[in-house]
Amino acid sequence: MTSSDELHKRRVAAVARGVGSTISSYIAEAGGGTLTDLEGREWIDFASGIAVTNVGNAAPRVVAAVREQVEKFTHTCFMVAPYESYVSVCEQLIELTPGSFEKRAALFNSGAEAVENAVKIARHATGRQAVVVFDHAYHGRTNLTMALTAKNMPYKHRFGPFAPEVYRAPMSYPLRDGGLDGAEAARRAIDVIEKQVGAGNVAAVLIEPIQGEGGFVVPAPGFLPAIAAWTAEAGAVFIADEIQTGFCRTGQWFASSHEGLEPDLITTAKGMGGGLPIAGVVGRAELMDAVHVGGLGGTYGGNPVACAAALAAIETMRELDLAASARHIESILKPALADISDPGIAEVRGRGAMLAIELVKPGTDEPDPVRTAAVSKACHEAGLLTLTCGTYGNVLRFLPPLVISDEDLDRGVAILRAAFR
Ligand SMILES: *Cc1c(COP(=O)(O)O)cnc(C)c1O
Repeated sequence: MTSSDELHKRRVAAVARGVGSTISSYIAEAGGGTLTDLEGREWIDFASGIAVTNVGNAAPRVVAAVREQVEKFTHTCFMVAPYESYVSVCEQLIELTPGSFEKRAALFNSGAEAVENAVKIARHATGRQAVVVFDHAYHGRTNLTMALTAKNMPYKHRFGPFAPEVYRAPMSYPLRDGGLDGAEAARRAIDVIEKQVGAGNVAAVLIEPIQGEGGFVVPAPGFLPAIAAWTAEAGAVFIADEIQTGFCRTGQWFASSHEGLEPDLITTAKGMGGGLPIAGVVGRAELMDAVHVGGLGGTYGGNPVACAAALAAIETMRELDLAASARHIESILKPALADISDPGIAEVRGRGAMLAIELVKPGTDEPDPVRTAAVSKACHEAGLLTLTCGTYGNVLRFLPPLVISDEDLDRGVAILRAAFR
């Protein structure tokens, strides 16, 4: 059998260097809370392929649904010849997302594509152009979403020019914004928007309820509701980017519910498809339906195999109550992380199975990306797959599949503890 080393050689000769990988081992199979590489080595999965395999890898219902669909038909293009599963996924999005108003949904292939379409819809419906995003935001790697994303390296560097009419406001970042409470942080952001953009020019305010790539930043309580209320008053569209936080990850179906938000539009992807590529925009019917017939779509958006996988993943989340599982993971993992006594740990934060440790140089608030990378590497050497994130690269993030066993969680924590030592 091919080894990871041999594959690495082939990769260097065939795969563009710009596409990186966290680990150098190649995966042979995966399930539940573990991955197995070509050498037969088992990895405990605290990454879920970046918050995708919430239902576990190769989840039984997803596998069965994909098999069944792929034998019937693989693609017709919903814009050419429609099929039921696309409609069913939209119905599920409408039912599961917060917001008691009438909704519509549309399906796409990736998170970035969902974000692009949410912005298209908001601009079309309002007749305005400005989009407000926040410090540390991550919304994708396409041209518009690079503009929406905050961080230069690696996402934007030398890839400009970027799309215009994107404005950045300060985020609530409790560890790093000098003790502002939610209302104060919102006032600071709103002041920037009013002075630098003008309320009447704003088409949309786009925000992750808990920031993902930007560092698992949980805004101070009250920040999101205040921003949402201002957005409504300004006649703009409040878009929650729930691509990473959605589908039970934070202990609710959608993280907006932690603060009682009812976003006008929600973007989803990642955990939605149980590992298959699918994304959606769901929200107020009058916004979604403002767009003319033919104005939204794409060749593969809501592909039937991906829709079958999404329906099976959603059924799995319902039947196993994976929102409760995420809360259970939090109840085990958060205290365990807090219990790692290390002078470099500035904060343990997050919700549900979206938890993180921010690292600083001891006794300062200076980010420590070098140590963060070293701890993560030590985890990898011991068979725990962890990821880092954060504007300063100094956040260790933990995203186990929601079906991970307590035993695998405990084994992961033991490795992490040792990695810190
Ligand atoms: C991953 C992510 C995206 C982009 O999704 P892709 O499927 O990689 O295009 C957008 N927003 C958030 C919050 C994400 O976590």
